[in-house]
Amino acid sequence: MRYSALKILTQGLTGNKGWTPAWRQPEPKSDYDVLIIGGGGHGLATAYYLARTYGLTNVAVLEKGYLGGGNVGRNTTIVRANYFLPGNSEFYSHSLKLWEGLEADLNYNVMHSQRGLINLFHSDGQRDAFARRGNAMINQGDDAELLDRDGVREYLPYLDFDNGRFPIYGGLYHPRGGTARHDAVAWGYARAADQRGVDLIQNCEVTGIDISGGKVTGVQTTRGAIRAKKVAIVTAGRSGQVAAMAGLRLPIESHILQAFVTEGLKPVINHVVSFGMGHFYISQSDKGGLVFGGDLDLYASYAQRGNLPMAEHVMEAAMTLMPIIGRAKVLRSWGGIMDMTPDGSPIIDKTGIEGLYIDCGWNYGGFKAVPASGDCLAHLIATDKPHEVAKGFRLDRFRTGRGIIDEEGTGAQHNLH
Ligand SMILES: Cc1cc2nc3c(=O)[nH]c(=O)nc-3n(C[C@H](O)[C@H](O)[C@H](O)COP(=O)(O)OP(=O)(O)OC[C@H]3O[C@@H](n4cnc5c(N)ncnc54)[C@H](O)[C@@H]3O)c2cc1C
Repeated sequence: MRYSALKILTQGLTGNKGWTPAWRQPEPKSDYDVLIIGGGGHGLATAYYLARTYGLTNVAVLEKGYLGGGNVGRNTTIVRANYFLPGNSEFYSHSLKLWEGLEADLNYNVMHSQRGLINLFHSDGQRDAFARRGNAMINQGDDAELLDRDGVREYLPYLDFDNGRFPIYGGLYHPRGGTARHDAVAWGYARAADQRGVDLIQNCEVTGIDISGGKVTGVQTTRGAIRAKKVAIVTAGRSGQVAAMAGLRLPIESHILQAFVTEGLKPVINHVVSFGMGHFYISQSDKGGLVFGGDLDLYASYAQRGNLPMAEHVMEAAMTLMPIIGRAKVLRSWGGIMDMTPDGSPIIDKTGIEGLYIDCGWNYGGFKAVPASGDCLAHLIATDKPHEVAKGFRLDRFRTGRGIIDEEGTGAQHNLH
């Protein structure tokens, strides 16, 4: 079924009885050309582009829980292309272009809203760094504008500009940055992949990876063994555990990142605001809740929930930046498991095992990467060659030390990226 305004109108007038399920609930077959482990944003997008771009439809996505129950449905929804280093910048630029056509491509409203993103700076040194970043973004073909203090005040009059520790000097404005509705992205890719014949198998945990003669032959799951010519591990925070099933030790640490949402309010924040010095970022959802987050919980864990010290830290940063937030009530908080690499940049690569691919290391920035990651991993699986914009995301850079993409300049410290 194609969605359209006319369909909504006719369904509305006829009691909404004609809607069909967004995707099938198939039983797993015994054999596939490609198996994707993990039904998050990256796994679903990969399945979609395999079918759409390469005509590979004998494909299944194996998800241990329900589609969208992982980080893809837990993030703070920021979509941007404001990376600085070669390797990252062309990839995220490609991703943002895919976002811009995504709703038409998927025939699904993912509520992509290019409301503009402003990164604040609080010193002359930081201004220089953001000016360089803005120039790099413009050279990459993306948009950036350096705002002075008054320029920021025009957009964000509610901030505390004269805070004793963090007076606002200005901001880097990225007008094409914004947000998208996170779980709609999972649903949109799922529906579009299903329509092209991909099997989406929920409640199907992969418990083992079968390898014979250095070649992958299939997987063991809680719903039985499934054979496949190619298998991709796309399990975000669980990547280390799943890769271990194939005897691989990944350069990944899993850390928790929390997010928070307030009660619904009238429109107050029209942009995405990022306050790097205090580790805080915020936007307002279409339902009116202020959605915000901060730093990692800073210790390794698979708990999928956060702890109170970081909640307190995030609230302090919020009050420092915009004291008006003290009047709002926090409704909920939650956590997701982040797959942190030593240089803060991702991995999309083959492994040493023939037919086994890996897509992970998205740190806390993988939502915006969903379209490009799916596109690039599908390219790698279908052609066995890296996509032009993802050729820096090699697994062996952590072994050889060549090609490290340390965007934050923090060195080999997983939890600081
Ligand atoms: C609080 C928070 C805020 C964030 N904010 C942003 C943001 O604003 N912008 C941004 O770009 N990024 C953000 N991120 C990061 C982003 O959400 C992730 O990097 C990205 O979603 C990870 O990829 P994914 O969607 O494929 O992961 P997931 O949705 O976690 O998908 C992985 C899937 O693999 C499944 N799985 C695991 N093990 C197995 C197994 N053995 N068998 C079968 N299935 C398995 C899991 O159940 C899961 O569904 C944020 C993350 C969090 C938690």
